[in-house]
Amino acid sequence: MDSIYNYTKEMLINYMVSLNEKTYRTDQIIEWLYRNKVSSFDDMTNISKKFIEKLKADFMIDELKLVTKQESYDGTKKFLFELSDGNLIESVLMTYEYGYSICVTSEVGCNMGCAFCASGMRKKLRNLSTSEMVLQILMVEKLENLKIGNVVIMGIGEPFDNYDNVINFIKIINYAKGLEIGARHITVSTCGIVPKIYEFANLDLQINLAISLHSAKNEVRNEIMPINKSYNLDLLIKAIKDYIDKTTKRVTIEYILLKDVNDSKDDALTLAKLLKGLNVYVNLIPYNEVKEKPYKRSNKEQMHIFFDTLKKENINVQLRKEQGSDIDAACGQLRSKNLK
Ligand code: SAH
Repeated sequence: MDSIYNYTKEMLINYMVSLNEKTYRTDQIIEWLYRNKVSSFDDMTNISKKFIEKLKADFMIDELKLVTKQESYDGTKKFLFELSDGNLIESVLMTYEYGYSICVTSEVGCNMGCAFCASGMRKKLRNLSTSEMVLQILMVEKLENLKIGNVVIMGIGEPFDNYDNVINFIKIINYAKGLEIGARHITVSTCGIVPKIYEFANLDLQINLAISLHSAKNEVRNEIMPINKSYNLDLLIKAIKDYIDKTTKRVTIEYILLKDVNDSKDDALTLAKLLKGLNVYVNLIPYNEVKEKPYKRSNKEQMHIFFDTLKKENINVQLRKEQGSDIDAACGQLRSKNLK
């Protein structure tokens, strides 16, 4: 039976129409699910018994099973969930001055094979369904009794390798009668699947796009991010330009600083040259070291040289403060530890 959390507003409206039901039932059901967070159709007290029986026959209101929760000294919490087929996924809750933010997983494992990343050590087993992404938010809101205001699709997996489910997920969490997470508070991050960046631009959802760049040199990027062999920097930058032109939105460029790999002054100058004139914001990220990987975090001094070099070249840049490094918050680390 299908999870009701797979259904966007449009899909539910089509369902109502197919049954000759009033379409305003859609908003009623959405409010019960996402505002009141009911766990049974029987709790939907403004819906007729007869229609509730029909809903019960067609959909389930499912849950994710919490396996473990870890809490960091800085308040970051990491949740390990078990899916109905036994697969494990993780979600990270972060607390900021402006509210709660969640990092959502999009796939079981990942096929992108980035050399520094713990997630890629486990090949992708399958896409997450839309409902499995929606439920990460609902479960954390219920377990912690809070309202999440910000969503980043930066957990395990490559969201643009699970494009349709991710787009439906975004539509569901954005809907005003439901979780109502504003488009400007949703960020999707990709390693650079170029055709999907074009497709995404055409949707004009007004959500934030982040690109994991990590090097402005093709020979280095080929080494650390195999996707670059399919879509090199030239193709990627063209797609980013197209996205900015179509949406007029600023794009975030993510750049992990890896010691002696991509963190020299020359690397910073090459990056500045590549991004010159583009409406982008560079996020410099301290690397979370992964035991099984040879990469090391750049030292503080080198990070500041990199940052200052970009600043001098008039690039918008920030050096991100890391969170939760004491609780295996680096992508895929908690899941990895719990797999045999
Ligand atoms: N596949 C998507 C989203 C998931 S990864 C993407 O590549 O953007 C989210 C971000 O975390 C990416 O920028 C990724 O490169 C980065 N990342 C992966 N492993 C990391 C680690 N050990 N330390 C710091 N950042 C890491």
